[in-house]
Amino acid sequence: MSEVQQAYFDHAATTPTRPEVVAAMLPYLEHRWGNPSSLHVTGIRALEGVERARQHVARLLQAAPEEIVFTGSGTEADNHALIGAAHALRSTGDHIITSAVEHHAIHYTAAHLESLGLRVTYLPVDETGLVDPDAVRAAITDRTLLVSIMHANNEIGTIQPIAEIGAICRQKGVLFHTDAVQTVGHLPIDVHHMNIDLLSLSAHKLYGPKGVGALFLREGVNLTSYIHGGGQESGRRASTENVAGIVALGEAARLAGEEMEQEAAHATALRERIIHDLLRRVPDLILTGHPTRRLPNSASFCVPGLEGEAILLDLDEEGFAVSSGSACTSGVSEPSPTLLALGLPPDMARGAIRITVGRGNTGAEVDRLLAVFPRVVHRLREMSAHRPTLTEGLAHG
Ligand code: PLP
Repeated sequence: MSEVQQAYFDHAATTPTRPEVVAAMLPYLEHRWGNPSSLHVTGIRALEGVERARQHVARLLQAAPEEIVFTGSGTEADNHALIGAAHALRSTGDHIITSAVEHHAIHYTAAHLESLGLRVTYLPVDETGLVDPDAVRAAITDRTLLVSIMHANNEIGTIQPIAEIGAICRQKGVLFHTDAVQTVGHLPIDVHHMNIDLLSLSAHKLYGPKGVGALFLREGVNLTSYIHGGGQESGRRASTENVAGIVALGEAARLAGEEMEQEAAHATALRERIIHDLLRRVPDLILTGHPTRRLPNSASFCVPGLEGEAILLDLDEEGFAVSSGSACTSGVSEPSPTLLALGLPPDMARGAIRITVGRGNTGAEVDRLLAVFPRVVHRLREMSAHRPTLTEGLAHG
């Protein structure tokens, strides 16, 4: 397939790797390829890269470097938090609280723990996707070992009241984890002010490479190791470190910390234009998620009467990369559980479209998208209005 440059509006799926990040990681593939556990100079050079990255990631979260454990992804960090806590605290608890709108990395891990005999409470959300902190308080029992509520949702961008939920968990003496994969590098985070004990992040959502992430583990919180083997990461995550990937995450974190304010302002301005213009230009379009408490980069909608995938594919042909909110399993599009949790009917949820902007997007690209999107929706609606129903089709042979 030829490398056609699309206008990329799918930054919640992944972000392009910044050239500065690629430049920072290359020496660790070319010259500084040592094993950070080796005692010789070749090993020490690699170790220095890993430790510098740990400082950059820690600074972005207002954490201490020793509180950062590098992982192979955001998914692994989520698994580590839930499974590690369940094992470490099994003598005192067997109950986990999470929300109905978490990423699969949390939902499927929670389901795995349920299959091992733990109880999981999935808290509902309101029509904007918000979890009620009072519902968290009410759900905590003396058997609750962990509360895991995401910082911001990947499909609808809603930002949860994390500091408030964290304060309740702290008061009740329950560990609090947040999946911050969509927010680290995009929103200011202070793990101590926000009462967070465990936090997951992923490099490829902040202009780093795929296949590297981290778990923040508050000092004094001990999880049972989730990957068994060597003593890397102070015995908290076995396996030889992905040194180049970790260095890249560190550089991405450093740059994100420096540029967060201006990036957020840029994203918010583009996002607001997209939301306001599309709501005006596309009849019956529905904005999903919270009107104001949303990720700077995220505009998400439902287009009644159409499949999100059909819009995505037409926009793809027109040169735009966006996402539909539903997962496509063996050719059958299932409505997204997150959108159903907002109370949207399944037919409406099937029409989900997510547009997520990034640092490289320009006003001119947004202008083109705003011109093309209504045309695509109009064309698809015309087609579906004139398509024969199944029975009509059969009647005509
Ligand atoms: N959690 C959230 C909220 C995400 O959006 C994602 C990725 O889409 C993940 C977890 C998984 O991260 P990774 O792709 O690094 O495994």
